[in-house]
Amino acid sequence: MVTGGTVGELALTGGEPVLGELAPVSWPRTTDADRAAVLAVLDSNVLVSDRTTEETAVERLERSWAEYLGVRRCVGVSNGTTAIELALLAHGVGPGDEVVVPALTFVATAMAVVHVGATPVYADVHPTTFTMSADSLAAEITERTKAVVPVHLHGLSADLAAIDEVAGRHGLVVIEDAAQAQGARYRGVLSGASGHTATFSLQMTKNLPTCGEGGLVVTDDERVADRIVQMRQFGETIRADRPRRYVSHRLGFNAKLNNVQAAYTASQLERFDAYHAARRANVAAFLSRLDHLDGLTCPSEPDGYEHAWHILRFVVDFDRILPGVDTAAARNLLMRALRAEGLPATRYQMMPLPEQPALRPLARQTPASWPVTQDVVDRSFTLQQRHLPPDAGPLLQGFADVVEKVWSQLKVLQQLAEGADR
Ligand SMILES: *Cc1c(COP(=O)(O)O)cnc(C)c1O
Repeated sequence: MVTGGTVGELALTGGEPVLGELAPVSWPRTTDADRAAVLAVLDSNVLVSDRTTEETAVERLERSWAEYLGVRRCVGVSNGTTAIELALLAHGVGPGDEVVVPALTFVATAMAVVHVGATPVYADVHPTTFTMSADSLAAEITERTKAVVPVHLHGLSADLAAIDEVAGRHGLVVIEDAAQAQGARYRGVLSGASGHTATFSLQMTKNLPTCGEGGLVVTDDERVADRIVQMRQFGETIRADRPRRYVSHRLGFNAKLNNVQAAYTASQLERFDAYHAARRANVAAFLSRLDHLDGLTCPSEPDGYEHAWHILRFVVDFDRILPGVDTAAARNLLMRALRAEGLPATRYQMMPLPEQPALRPLARQTPASWPVTQDVVDRSFTLQQRHLPPDAGPLLQGFADVVEKVWSQLKVLQQLAEGADR
């Protein structure tokens, strides 16, 4: 038996793994500057809800992120899901309305629609970008459609020009779910800076993280921003120059961001551009090693887009690499082989969103509306951001070794699959 390296017996069948162990989770990266920022908030005792004449950490983050994007307003909220809910409500979306979301996204995008009393309707995605298909959006519009929520999935912007064209024709509100897309660009414009209201998550797995949970809404519309500021604190108007009055002007929520979370993110923002650039260089070097492998389609960055690489999704032509093997069995076998070598391959989304048990009873469509999403879910595996930190260049080279090794031994996988069949 040959040990290690890209040749030799597969770890799945007892050989030496390429990487010693499954890569550990190493995100977010906390520095002394982040620690100092958090401790300064604790020492100030200005933790949440307060308005002081000094700028609070929440206000500082809101100002910094608005400046970063070049938008008029940014409002900090408790998480990225709440950010979508409050953005929908601030745009007047509610009971009786339909909101089109992509069939491939994190469950929060549709749950937010349900929680404002509206009905999610699902558009299929594009087979290589994995973001909402504008043609599918157009096909799902009815007289009840009020809004569309394109998702910049995996860190790649949706095709906003095509979506805006359809939305414009039907007078739809566009709210961008940019939870995964801090730093992404579409035609040179940062995600969130297109002029629509957009939402971000600061949840600790995302590209711009906090030490827990948080969210941001950005908009150029002052009235939308003001509504969200009221709604995040029980519908109250809070002013720095007078005591809190406890008068609620609209039905609100308790959806505030706290100063500890905000200070941590503001500190991370100082290094954000450097991290983004490092991740892009690492991923480019990684993917360039895999581009030529037969039956493997690597994620790509179309012309006019800048990918933030939050998640890498690889689509596999199983009929080609493991002919005659059932697709689900082939995918599971391939993922086991990759994981045994130390590559933490995961499935990001086990099913099209409308087929989630919690959402299925609410869907008015059938699976015929999302064939591409189903195919992508069936034939892909992912690598997630927690394994793509800025210093992951060597680790990603190790991942490339893993994929090359497994691809060099597809015959063994074929035999294993056939043995299991018999
Ligand atoms: C993470 C995420 C959300 C929700 O954000 P939370 O901060 O976890 O509530 C919404 N949409 C997408 C696409 C996400 O990835």
